[in-house]
Amino acid sequence: MSPRRALALMAAAAAAVLALAACGAGGPAARADGRLGVVASFYPLQYLAEQIGGPHVAVTDLTSPGVEPHDLELSPRQVASVGSAGLVVYLKGLQPAVDEAVRQSGARRVVEASSLTPLADHHLDEGGDGAGGSGDRAAGAAAEPHAHATGDPHVWLDPARYAVLARGVGRGLAEADPAHAADYRRRTDRMVARLAALDAEFRTGLAPYRGRDFVTSHAAFGYLADRYGIRQVAVSGVDPESEPSPARLAAIQRQARAHGVTTVFFETLSNPKLAATLAADLHLRTAVLDPVEGVKDPSRDDYFSVQRQNLKNLETAFGGAR
Ligand SMILES: [Zn+2]
Repeated sequence: MSPRRALALMAAAAAAVLALAACGAGGPAARADGRLGVVASFYPLQYLAEQIGGPHVAVTDLTSPGVEPHDLELSPRQVASVGSAGLVVYLKGLQPAVDEAVRQSGARRVVEASSLTPLADHHLDEGGDGAGGSGDRAAGAAAEPHAHATGDPHVWLDPARYAVLARGVGRGLAEADPAHAADYRRRTDRMVARLAALDAEFRTGLAPYRGRDFVTSHAAFGYLADRYGIRQVAVSGVDPESEPSPARLAAIQRQARAHGVTTVFFETLSNPKLAATLAADLHLRTAVLDPVEGVKDPSRDDYFSVQRQNLKNLETAFGGAR
């Protein structure tokens, strides 16, 4: 080997050592600015990654603000970003395009939310009595063409389960970027404490209304209902684009009349027309129950503010009955 070539090799080796030192534990997935690049599939996971990651991470959300996340389609560039991310945080069964991108990308570090907390199978008429029976169940199944084989994905709407996701995201960040593990742990603890406070507010606020029914346009609130002992009667399925059958609508009308329902809830991101029609037919009010699948104005709202508004709207709806 010529002295010049040996020198060049030494220089290259030194540069490699410097590069490793500069990007720390992030390794090849770390960004030029030294932060850990995190790709999150939709708002609730993006929010956890940002809150727990703080200044050490740069989070990209595959679902743009204000976009309904079900049936999301990804650009080739977004698919590539999944493969090159320092950490991918997603929820299997909510967005098939993301599931596919993760499967194909061979992403090395992944936090998959449904592996952290078991998913329940919330039928459309679960908890209902007036609308029960196999006929209605069949109608419910027919109204869910994109039913999720893995169960109801809307786990983040229960603050206690969301805290479990927070712990999982915190662990994932600490493993992907051990240099800042202590900071991730501290920030995880803070997030879990804030969620415990929110859980206590829901528990206290909804305690007088245990066993009451609420009618909602999309079946996103099964976990929240289970946690606080109220009962979801959903017009559409777990996928908000699904259309209910006439038999399903008639069953909901019977149940609403029988249980003193005052309000039909709709959500901000999907088409509220169905809920508005049902409310008009039944002479009921409409109000927003937001599944926090995306936040339209992240400078104004976040998971906590939207959930507190949900609680207020539920209390108003229940308080106005009897
Ligand atoms: Zn949903």
